[in-house]
Amino acid sequence: MGARPILVYADPRLEATNRPVERFDEEIDALVEDLFETGWKAPGLGLAAPQIGINIRLATIDLSVGKDPDARIVLANPTIVHHQGKTSLEEGCLSFPGLFTNLVRPSALTVRAQNANGDWRDLEAEGLLAQAVCHELDHLDGVLLVHHLRGMKRRLFLRRVAKMRKLGVWTATA
Ligand SMILES: [Zn+2]
Repeated sequence: MGARPILVYADPRLEATNRPVERFDEEIDALVEDLFETGWKAPGLGLAAPQIGINIRLATIDLSVGKDPDARIVLANPTIVHHQGKTSLEEGCLSFPGLFTNLVRPSALTVRAQNANGDWRDLEAEGLLAQAVCHELDHLDGVLLVHHLRGMKRRLFLRRVAKMRKLGVWTATA
């Protein structure tokens, strides 16, 4: 299929429950390819299956945005098994186009996940990669940027969301 439309907030599929990936077949291979292609086109550093309306625990990350095949990471059924440190970083999301906010994330972590063949492995990540892993895992739990914000910060963010919508910057893809 190739690149697919990316759902924007507040599409309910972004906050729905995501089922575990059970079969690692051609269908998953094709979906993984579509996730990478959609991310490259956006462009973005990572994409989770629910962002294209597929509610399963699958995400891809490619910090090289298509330049380096070795940088492609597939995370199926991932969990963070270890994390350390804290760092405050600016974060964006393809489902909140044009908006950024500062979030506190672990500075380093280990994520355990299956690849597109269903093989389990542990991946160590720090800095930007650790941030990307946390961001994509949040998506698999239906957690979005706005859910991390409280009080005034949250109100201001939602006001910016409303403004983007009014300006027509965000196009509905559903
Ligand atoms: Zn996102």
